[in-house]
Amino acid sequence: MAPATNGRVIFNEVPEGFPEPGKTLVYDESEKIDADTVSLDGGFLVKTLDLSVDPYMRGRMRNPEVKSYSAAYTLGQPITGFGVGVVVRSESSEVKVGDHVYGLLKYQQYDVYKSTEGLRILDNKHNLPWSYFVGVAGMPGQTAYMAWKEYSSAKAGEVAFVSGGAGPVGSFVIQLAKAQGLKVIASAGSEEKVEFMKSLGADVAFNYKTTNTLETLQAHGPIDVFWDNVGGETLEAALTAANVHARFIECGMISGYNSTPPPIRNLMQVVAKSISIFGFIVSRLFHKYLEAFYEEVPKLVSEGKLKYKEQIYDGLDKAGQAVLEVQQGKNWGKAVVRVAKE
Ligand code: NAP
Repeated sequence: MAPATNGRVIFNEVPEGFPEPGKTLVYDESEKIDADTVSLDGGFLVKTLDLSVDPYMRGRMRNPEVKSYSAAYTLGQPITGFGVGVVVRSESSEVKVGDHVYGLLKYQQYDVYKSTEGLRILDNKHNLPWSYFVGVAGMPGQTAYMAWKEYSSAKAGEVAFVSGGAGPVGSFVIQLAKAQGLKVIASAGSEEKVEFMKSLGADVAFNYKTTNTLETLQAHGPIDVFWDNVGGETLEAALTAANVHARFIECGMISGYNSTPPPIRNLMQVVAKSISIFGFIVSRLFHKYLEAFYEEVPKLVSEGKLKYKEQIYDGLDKAGQAVLEVQQGKNWGKAVVRVAKE
């Protein structure tokens, strides 16, 4: 076969505010690959199928001197993200042609791997779409499942508040809380998202852009468990509306990812109400929950017991736009870049 374009998404510039398609991230077609002859050197060739676009990726678009829990992207190199690919050639005893792998993949159409370190060979016994393994059956699903189990100490009859409730993490949390008999309040940024959260079982769902968060929480609280995807003013409101002995699960603070985060002015509520705050990074919970997650969650999804919504961006050249739209909240459902069909 003649060499084909191996499209890549390059980290081109550290953004000041929102990541700009074509400036922060640039789609590049300069690299060619001959999938039939490229040297594998004992490894295997993966064709990328679906890539996850996640909020945390904004934090990787930084000056590498700034330390954080995840490595900074390298200027001039392809970005990485969670993805699913299919093995199209293999000289490795670890994988065979047709196996599907999941892990941190480069944002490029093809890549050669030396080993399966950091990759999981997927067992799709419930026949889910492969893209689900970057969403409800991948990192965002793991986040909701593991941290809710670890930190919520939820009891039937309590009140949970889920911010960012229409995304892959929040929508999963709403369903976990309802399944345990909690009353659920959930917020998101559009009327369509509000309807979606209601369809998942949220008892009170509201648009934080048009409805006052604090007044809503005070009317329907006090809050026993707060799942926070947003931070900022929403976190302040939740602190004010919290019950004594509330648990705050600090999953993310996207309101501050593209601008200087506003200060939280009422942290004294933590003292006054004996609030427990749990910050976490999902990979630090893998040792405890990962195998149970893969046993339980794909099955629940295949049986229709766990609802899930994704938004597909068709083509790797759409990655820059997808990354921006997740930060802006224009995505609705788990944002996935479809690089190729099988
Ligand atoms: P997502 O919902 O698909 O996308 C992010 C959403 O955040 C946007 O759609 C937008 O929805 C909302 N948003 C953006 N700016 C906002 C603002 N200023 N105020 C309020 N909402 C805003 O994302 P996800 O994958 O489910 O992730 C949700 C959160 O979990 C993120 O904070 C992420 O960083 C965090 N996370 C943490 C871990 C961990 O290990 N701790 C792992 C995965 C994810 P609206 O239309 O509602 O504004």
